[in-house]
Amino acid sequence: MSTLILWLLVLGFVAAFAAQAATRVRLVAAAPNTISLENPAFRVWRFLVDVVLQRQTIRERPVPGLAHALVFWGFVAFGGYTVTEFLDGLGIVDLTQTRWFYAYRVALTPFAIAVLAGIAFLIVRRAIFRPVELGKTVSIESVVIGFFIATLMVTFLLGWRLDEESTAGRANWWIHALVILAFLALIPASKHFHLVLSPITVFLKSPELGNVPNLDFEKEQVGLEVVKDLGSKTVLDAFTCVECGRCQVNCPAWGAGKELNPKAIILQTQEALLTGPRDAKLAGIYSEKVLWQCTTCGACENQCPVGIEHLPLLIGSRRGLVSNGDAPDYLGGMYNNLERRSNIWGLSYDQRQKFVDASGLEIFDPAKHDVLVWLGCAGAFEADFQKSLRSLFEILRARQVKFGVLSKERCNGDPAKRTGNEYMYQELANANIEDLKAARPKKILTSCPHCVKTIGDDYRKFGYAVEIVHSSVFVEELTRDIRGVAPDGGGSYTYHDPCYLSRYGGKVDEPRELLARFGAQVSEPVRNRDNPYCCGAGGGLLFADKEEEPGSRISDVRFKQLRDTGAGTVVTACPFCSIMLKGAQTSAPGAGDVQFVDLMTFVNGRLAKH
Ligand code: SF4
Ligand code: SF4
Repeated sequence: MSTLILWLLVLGFVAAFAAQAATRVRLVAAAPNTISLENPAFRVWRFLVDVVLQRQTIRERPVPGLAHALVFWGFVAFGGYTVTEFLDGLGIVDLTQTRWFYAYRVALTPFAIAVLAGIAFLIVRRAIFRPVELGKTVSIESVVIGFFIATLMVTFLLGWRLDEESTAGRANWWIHALVILAFLALIPASKHFHLVLSPITVFLKSPELGNVPNLDFEKEQVGLEVVKDLGSKTVLDAFTCVECGRCQVNCPAWGAGKELNPKAIILQTQEALLTGPRDAKLAGIYSEKVLWQCTTCGACENQCPVGIEHLPLLIGSRRGLVSNGDAPDYLGGMYNNLERRSNIWGLSYDQRQKFVDASGLEIFDPAKHDVLVWLGCAGAFEADFQKSLRSLFEILRARQVKFGVLSKERCNGDPAKRTGNEYMYQELANANIEDLKAARPKKILTSCPHCVKTIGDDYRKFGYAVEIVHSSVFVEELTRDIRGVAPDGGGSYTYHDPCYLSRYGGKVDEPRELLARFGAQVSEPVRNRDNPYCCGAGGGLLFADKEEEPGSRISDVRFKQLRDTGAGTVVTACPFCSIMLKGAQTSAPGAGDVQFVDLMTFVNGRLAKH
């Protein structure tokens, strides 16, 4: 009789699970395919460290992360136990009296205690401490799931004490089984579906941060406009979000009090997929304003423990708006500059030529030069950053590096790509690729992290691969023989990691090594190394009208963080960070004494004195 009841219950609950899961599977299957398995070796490695070892979960929040990892490892460890007990209960096969099952139960006992400790910590944190990223209210669902997990562990442990043939023993077994079945039915419609989906989404996450594949205009692709345009990986991501809020608390826009919240974007996507019409406009779901607040810093994607990719969604939605002529006004001027003059400032190329001539630069010749120096829009036209480039040239000359530049450069296309103007990006990229192919450099050197990312990663999607290095990396290698530079007496320093160099490029040690080598004492700001707080320039926001933004400026928040280190000098390594942070300084009361220096200018100054 009890076997029959268990069969009926199992079939009922499995059917409930399957029905809810099927709705989500159908939505993934109906979406345009955006799933790629490129670079499988990296994906397997990341699966091992981020799913099996829970690195990403533990890294940012060690204590709650470890508590979560204990629950996860327990969940996995109990898989075989649950299956074995159900096989017995359903009358299929009884393996519960075997020696190995006894040994397995013994081995599971410490897991059960660890899971109980982990879940108790997580419930207390959620219900009593309530960190802001978890939302204002304690969800009933979280409490129920926590209670279920605790009940499973307690009933397992009681199994050692109770005679399984006794009434108490049988009641204990049934409570355990019923909780598992209820858990199964609850999972797909809750954030706990991540238990099933996150190993898949982590594996499918692009090895490249902020990977936004090119649009294929021959296939009439224009970007994301309505719900049914969302790609299959994005749809899968929407059902995987565990609502931990790590993306939210690391987002500089949210941190500066703006409306953009990457967690909300994912949850709104989920709701739109499940409840809204398939032709609902994305700009209506997220609000246009919010879509233009993203700096594309990549913090959300980089911190997400379950492999969710926000940038294909955010930039894809911008593409949809741009294709309909709905870009904000401030981008119109920049697009115009790119179209007419191929640079973001709209300046005439004579000015670049003047800088090239005044700096004594040669036109690159692969037979004569070791590297091609890519000036970028900032290097070609921005007086302040040209000082940094002149320092780089002096370092290169002092170390006998032979270098040249292209006779003409266009903007690499980053501001067009990240703001969703894909057509303009592809035009600029293809023209630059043609020139670079003709010039045949083996190595490109630049001081702009955005150029490193775009030429190094994004141009590869057009089949053009070249080694491109940031000046901090190149010069660090070039000056390794230098020892014993006296400590700089010019005061204390702090270093601002540019998002596109550190988070995207992983280059966090080289700038610090250079600063240390040349005698700077560096105080680290909060949010440093591969998780810096953005300066606010990326994603076209360099051109935004700051006065119209809600909340405070991202650059003001970052400047304050840098100033709070107490350092007298802020070292930058990106032209756009420098512009934003200097702009923030002008509006910060009493901050006039803070100095700025570009990394190359600092190194060259110290090298000259050495
Ligand atoms: S990329 Fe940066 S600014 Fe954009 S949503 Fe993510 S964290 Fe926020
Ligand atoms: S998107 Fe990722 S980081 Fe953000 S709340 Fe969801 S699971 Fe957490």
